[in-house]
Amino acid sequence: QAKTEGRAKACGYLPSMHTAAVWRLNLEQDLRLALEGDQLQLHFQPQVDGDGRIVGGEGLLRWLHPKRGMVQPVEFIPVAEESGLILDIGQRVLDQACEALMRLDARQLPRLSINISPRQFGQPEFVASIGRGIERSGIDPSRLQLEITEGVMIDNLIETIETMRDLKRIGVGLAIDDFGVGYSSLSYLKRLPLDELKIDRSFIQELDNSNDEAIVQTIITIARNLHLTVVAEGVESAAQRDFLLSNGCHIFQGFWFFRPLPFDALVAAINDCQSTA
Ligand code: C2E
Ligand code: MG
Ligand code: MG
Ligand code: MG
Repeated sequence: QAKTEGRAKACGYLPSMHTAAVWRLNLEQDLRLALEGDQLQLHFQPQVDGDGRIVGGEGLLRWLHPKRGMVQPVEFIPVAEESGLILDIGQRVLDQACEALMRLDARQLPRLSINISPRQFGQPEFVASIGRGIERSGIDPSRLQLEITEGVMIDNLIETIETMRDLKRIGVGLAIDDFGVGYSSLSYLKRLPLDELKIDRSFIQELDNSNDEAIVQTIITIARNLHLTVVAEGVESAAQRDFLLSNGCHIFQGFWFFRPLPFDALVAAINDCQSTA
């Protein structure tokens, strides 16, 4: 009796694993098709300073699938990473970011950040491809910033630092994304040629339970001492923003201010802000 039950359980598990594998495979195939068409669009989440002025933005990829509807990055970025498609996708993101910066002058949008996955960052051709994208578009390289996560540096710190130095030579900005949830030690932070630190959203959310107040204060202090620009991501309330501002955070990004917007809506938001300023 117990044996049959065990088998039934095992069998019950297999089809769902199978389903997951098929789902993933389909997603990968669809992603290839998406790359050929124009289903992958970069959206833009404005970032503001303490006075509420738009001082930059983050490019966030959106996939409008013809049948599935909007597919979120948490679903397709891991698939893109594993399949290697992230390299072509990353190129697409770079091109769309440079184009957005070309269409907006520095007064409208001073800076734009894009996310770089570990697999992209580790490519021998990576630095050159960033350089080519900037050259083709003719933008001021300091207006583009690359966000990397702590996952990038655990493999080979020396190589990571070298790649980052090469990127600094091109003139782009460098940010560490999702800070605090990865593996980085404080000594790494000191050795990396970073311009900006982004406090992970999870700490900002926890501010409401006042659990993470001390952690956030400490991160801001360390970042400021290292002369990094401090950005809080996932700011969803005035209370969070006030706490962050009074503790020295420079830049704010979150639904309280703006959601990620398609390019035209970004332009409208910028015009709105400038006409009321
Ligand atoms: P991330 O780089 O940390 O991006 C911030 C994420 O937080 C975005 O999610 C953004 O929509 C979300 N967010 C911003 N403000 C708020 C807020 O107030 N509340 C909440 N709950 N969320 C907020 P999104 O767009 O779903 O992207 C998720 C992750 O996918 C990104 O995290 C990034 O790691 C990755 N990703 C997105 N676009 C790209 C891309 O072009 N290339 C690569 N390699 N990764 C990307
Ligand atoms: Mg990011
Ligand atoms: Mg982030
Ligand atoms: Mg995050």
